[in-house]
Amino acid sequence: MAEITLDEAKKEAASLRKQLNEWAEAYYSKDAPEVEYNVYDQSSNRLLELEKEFPEIVTPDSITQRVGGQIDSDFTKVEHPIPMLSMGDVFSKAELKDFDQRMQKLVGHPVEYNVELKIDGLSLSLEYENGKLVRASTRGNGYVGEDVTANAKYISDIPQTLPEPLTTEVRGECYMGKEAFAKLNAEREEQGLVVFANPRNAAAGSLRQLDPKVTKKRQLSTFIYTWVNPPEEITSQHQAIQKMHDLGFHTNETGRKLKTLDEVFAFIDEYTAKRNSLTYGIDGIVLKIDDLGIEQELGNTVKVPRWEIAYKFPPEEQETVVRDIVWTVGRTGVVTPTAVMDPVQLAGTTVARASLHNPDYLNEKGIRIGDTVKLHKAGDIIPEISEVVMAKRSADSVAYQIPTTCPSCGQKLVHLEDEVALRCINPSCPAQVEEGLTHFASRPAINIAGLGPKIV
Ligand code: NAD
Repeated sequence: MAEITLDEAKKEAASLRKQLNEWAEAYYSKDAPEVEYNVYDQSSNRLLELEKEFPEIVTPDSITQRVGGQIDSDFTKVEHPIPMLSMGDVFSKAELKDFDQRMQKLVGHPVEYNVELKIDGLSLSLEYENGKLVRASTRGNGYVGEDVTANAKYISDIPQTLPEPLTTEVRGECYMGKEAFAKLNAEREEQGLVVFANPRNAAAGSLRQLDPKVTKKRQLSTFIYTWVNPPEEITSQHQAIQKMHDLGFHTNETGRKLKTLDEVFAFIDEYTAKRNSLTYGIDGIVLKIDDLGIEQELGNTVKVPRWEIAYKFPPEEQETVVRDIVWTVGRTGVVTPTAVMDPVQLAGTTVARASLHNPDYLNEKGIRIGDTVKLHKAGDIIPEISEVVMAKRSADSVAYQIPTTCPSCGQKLVHLEDEVALRCINPSCPAQVEEGLTHFASRPAINIAGLGPKIV
């Protein structure tokens, strides 16, 4: 770290904490991140670095000492006597090797790992009394979460009753599959609403609904991976998952008990390749010491268990150039901008278009025609522009002007209250009539065979 005084470190840390708190609030409480992961992580890592260099500046309420966001929602609060923690992460195989060596040193001998996929969702706790589901809750700040029992009743793979009269707690990930995520965002765009940035925020936004009927409409699923208080005969994570599966929980079948780091690396390579063909999003793999007794002995730091680590996949990104921004009118009159770009290969498909959702989004990203941009796939499925590569912007580039009239009928566009979208409110707008008719004839609606977009 460059030379810095204690006073300077204190000031910088305070300002980083303020910024990180704001971002964490948007991400965890509103399910609507204000910045990309890497931006958040850079600031978070800088704060960690400062606090490591000057331990006296650590404050008890620092975000580095805390899991998740603040709990101030309208949900009933649920205490987690055994906290629901975050997880340490690494970004390279070399760092995984360091982790393994640390574990071997702590334990005194080589350890076996249960290696699992890191599902892109939010953690969920399920409590059963005499085999009946009595409470479902979110992680919240790790110690206090939100009661989402009424919502969990609408997640079809959560057993309401167990085949044995167990009083127990399990935990896992509540997630939204790729197809459901893409469908939900397409619907939201059509309704003029803000789209979810990633499946994790979509799952959290769909579960954390005061009206459980909203949760019912969203297709949420779970993968259960932690048995908080397993019976004595269960001594390993691998066994715990098998038994939870037998009890009717939806567990992920890909988990593997592995003895060597080479096997772990092969698992990583296998799922780096298979990732795009999975029906749910993953952002890495998780290594857990398989022996539950050793897990107990190693325990946790304030924020993470010592016996597990996440290896996060490097972001799949491509650079390309925006050649045009086209606006299309949907059947409800929402006018949506789409970036047309030089085609690039990204996460298994050729991508040449990405929705820019609405004028606010376009303005925030500051995208101009001719810009070089970084492109990724939200939830491994929806192409999204992450940012403009400012260093590659040409000197004669000009700011993009948002249209004021409908590209189809030429009428003035409007901004309705509470909406982020631009709308054409002309009921006889040809594009809307065409889209409306196509929708009317489509299979989910009246289903007129042969009356597709071409004939319309
Ligand atoms: P995390 O998501 O990196 O990892 C911990 C979580 O992984 C657990 O709580 C659990 O829910 C989940 N998980 C998935 N599969 C699992 C498995 N098989 N076994 C065990 N756990 C599994 O950590 P976090 O503390 O939840 O969040 C930190 C992340 O959130 C960082 O990547 C950060 O970038 C991001 N974040 C982003 C913003 C933003 O504004 N963009 C703000 C805050 C946090």
